[in-house]
Order: sequence, then C-alpha cells, then structure tokens
Amino acid sequence: MAGILFIISAPSGSGKSTLVNEVRRLVEGLEFSVSYTTRAPRGSEEDGREYHFTTKENFERMIAADEFLEYATVFGDNYYGTAVSALVQARKHGHDLLLDIDVQGALQVMKKVPEAVSIFILPPSPQVLEMRLRNRSQAEGMTQESVIEKRLSQARNELLKIGDYKYALVNDQLEVAATEMRSIVLHERGEDGVVEEIAAQCLTTAKSARLEAALESFYLGDQAGV
Ligand code: ADP
Ligand code: 5GP
Repeated sequence: MAGILFIISAPSGSGKSTLVNEVRRLVEGLEFSVSYTTRAPRGSEEDGREYHFTTKENFERMIAADEFLEYATVFGDNYYGTAVSALVQARKHGHDLLLDIDVQGALQVMKKVPEAVSIFILPPSPQVLEMRLRNRSQAEGMTQESVIEKRLSQARNELLKIGDYKYALVNDQLEVAATEMRSIVLHERGEDGVVEEIAAQCLTTAKSARLEAALESFYLGDQAGV
C-alpha cells in the first residue's frame, strides 16, 4: 500500500464521523488519526478512541515541542491538532491515514504534504444540517442553542473553501456517500474501472448537479470557487 494521506473536512454535523466509520468498515488498511483536543468528551466518547482529550497546558507544551503536523482553534474556544506521530506510525505500518480535520488544519496539511488527497463532505442543505445537529445533541442529552448556532454559521464559512479540495461528496443517503468515498480511496490506490468513474464524478472540478444543488441551498452558487 502506498501510504496515502487522506484529508477529510466537513461542517460539523454533516455526518463525517458516521461516513468515515462506514468507509473504514468497507475498506482495509485505512488508519484513522486520533486527534488531540482540549474540548470535553461528548456523549459516549472515550479518551483515545474519538480523541485524545487533554488540557490546554499539555496542548501548548506539545505545540512548543513541535509535536503537531497541524493544529487549529476551532469554534473559537478549543484547540484541535494532529500529532506528527500519527503520520509516522501509519507510514511504518504501510497504511493509508485518514485525517478528520477542519478547513484551517486541512489548508496547513495541503501545504506541508502537497500529495495528500483532500475530500470535502457537504450536508445536502442547511435545513438538513440543522436537523442532524439537533438530533445528535438530543441523543447526547445536551441541546445547547449557542453551540448549534455557532456550528451552523461556521458551516457557510467552511463551504467557501471547497474549491481548495480535490473531491466533494454530498452526504444525503449514507450508502451512496459511502460508495463514493470508498471509490475515491480505491481509485487513489490505483484501481480503475467503475471506481474510477465514480471518483471522477466526485472531483470538485466536475461540479456535479448534487454538489451545485447543495451549494445553492447555502446561497453559495458561484461564491464557493468550484
Ligand atoms: P460530524 O462528524 O460531521 O460532526 P456525525 O457523524 O456525528 O457528524 O453526524 C451527525 C448526525 O447526523 C448524527 O446523529 C448521525 O447519525 C446523522 N447522520 C449522519 N449521516 C447521515 C445520513 N446520511 N443521513 C441521515 N443522518 C445522518
Ligand atoms: P467536534 O468537536 O465536532 O468533534 O469537531 C469539531 C471540528 O474540529 C470538526 O470540524 C473536526 O473536523 C475538527 N477537528 C477534529 N480534529 C481536528 C484536528 O486534529 N485538527 C483540526 N484542525 N481540526 C480538527
């Protein structure tokens, strides 16, 4: 295996974690980079599984020691970062590595690792995004209006960067989006045929009808740079 670095970004609540879990079930040899964060665990999250939960002091010590490939302050209050060690480990195992990071972090990695393959996941519309954010908060037993509002307004800013990504997927039906993401991974590993065709339709430059409709629903028809 080539040791490909996949960068996945999406507005919070788009279904990125759900989709990534599904694709990891379908494709072998995909390691997931567990990020460091200073935010508190949510719902059933466990330290070392979804994130390495840490303190601001320890995070800042790691920044000073140059232990991050990238890091960013997300939603204005918490640090999130990818440890260089995740990349080193995946390369040692000959595995591909998946980074689930925000747009700021993605742009840093694209500069440092230009051959990384970037994928942006969009929700089909702002209404669906809001519904998913609310459903998730309810399921986790903490509906904080300010948190939902912050995530919704940030979504539009993030969508403006979609033109910097190689691929874009609309997560409407999970099965369809998972097939698309699986196809992208397999095609980037060198497979052709059907997976190549599906991957080609997901290129941001291909401007699929689903992508355009999703961008328009956020009033971003021409502004998103695709
Ligand atoms: P993210 O990782 O992007 O913040 P999650 O994976 O936590 O988002 O998904 C947010 C919510 O949306 C969850 O409740 C999840 O079950 C739901 N969800 C994810 N993908 C879909 C989909 N394709 N259709 C319907 N609901 C979905
Ligand atoms: P959440 O709090 O919903 O888990 O994540 C909030 C945002 O932080 C998401 O957009 C997620 O992709 C991003 N994120 C998670 N880990 C990292 C990371 O290591 N670096 C950066 N830059 N963003 C991250």
